[in-house]
Amino acid sequence: MIRLSNELKSLVERATAQVLPEVVAFRRERHRRPELTWQELATARAIAERLRTIGGMTVTEGVGRNGIVAVIEGAADGPTVGLRADMDALPVVEVTGKEYASEHAGVMHACGHDGHMANLLGSAMVLVQLRQHLRGRVKLLFQPAEEGGAGADAMCRDGALENPHVDLVFGLHGWPELATGQVYVRGGPMMAANTEIRIVVHGVGCHAATPHLGTDQVLIAARIIEALQSVSARLVAPNEPVAVSITKIAGGSATNIIPPHVEMAGTLRTMTVATRDGCCAAIRRLAEGVAQTHGATATVEFEHGYPSTVNDTRATDFIESLAQQVLPAGHTHRMPAPTMGAEDFAYFLERVPGCYFFLGVDDGRAGGYPSLHHPAYDFNDAALPTGIKLFVHAALAAKDFLATQPL
Ligand SMILES: [Zn+2]
Ligand SMILES: [Zn+2]
Repeated sequence: MIRLSNELKSLVERATAQVLPEVVAFRRERHRRPELTWQELATARAIAERLRTIGGMTVTEGVGRNGIVAVIEGAADGPTVGLRADMDALPVVEVTGKEYASEHAGVMHACGHDGHMANLLGSAMVLVQLRQHLRGRVKLLFQPAEEGGAGADAMCRDGALENPHVDLVFGLHGWPELATGQVYVRGGPMMAANTEIRIVVHGVGCHAATPHLGTDQVLIAARIIEALQSVSARLVAPNEPVAVSITKIAGGSATNIIPPHVEMAGTLRTMTVATRDGCCAAIRRLAEGVAQTHGATATVEFEHGYPSTVNDTRATDFIESLAQQVLPAGHTHRMPAPTMGAEDFAYFLERVPGCYFFLGVDDGRAGGYPSLHHPAYDFNDAALPTGIKLFVHAALAAKDFLATQPL
């Protein structure tokens, strides 16, 4: 693995400390003015303006609609490293009570993408300063629409990973279950693919007092929900992570009518395409079979969302080894199991090798740090130096890494 010199480590340490006040101020500015998925226009404009002020890079706006690609050329030849941040916020009413709380009613950076943008801006500032140590180039990827809009896919389709071609890509997410300054890495599948499920039970509605004259779609829906619990429990291997959750159910209008239709919706989370397709087939078979057993029918529809986020194992080892050298002992962890959340960084990793990792933000408060998407979640500024140092070292060491481990 790559050995970092003490000289380089202290250069990065010093430059990170130097840019930190501006990066924190930028994070809070963004926190104050969050924008929803596909509406990140003012956010993108502010970032592009700031990147041009920093200078030392080419800035291209409007990549994948609201995305920005900026390229920092190194002093010598080498690979192209992509570093990514997401920019969108959520429809959440903020309750942090912070002086920089959201000024946009009902919109909040409850997933901490303000922190990710600040982390990438800080990394850019440090890399511009240390350009003489950069071999190759860095491509900054500020992406829109992570929260369900597949903005990463839009940027890739718009050529964000080409001209020049990105050889390696890195991304991170603040993680409330891990102490500040620590990181979680995981090779292979890291986050799940999500699939939306929609099931409608159709039958013969009737008077509630004469159930024998029709079919009971409410009872059938209940039995389908119950039957679907066996997908993860009995139809998939016990060591294969799967989640099947029915989260919406609608049907009926009165206490004395058995309705002719009941509609259900939910989500399926899986780690591989094979498991996803197997689960979809099982869900369809169970829903149609249960409905048929009761003399009714069921229609089952699936809509595939983000693919699973799969890290390159060597790129993961690379990040782990950098973290072990840059962070205090005991701050670098292998994540024991993947998380069932979905993340559109998956689209970058489908096209180029890289590593997505989690950056701890927990400050040790009683009762635990608020979870992602919670109205009290506020990205912890104290985590920024860790993220910046890892992004910067990954860019600076990429040439050596690829020389020993061609991907
Ligand atoms: Zn989120
Ligand atoms: Zn997020």
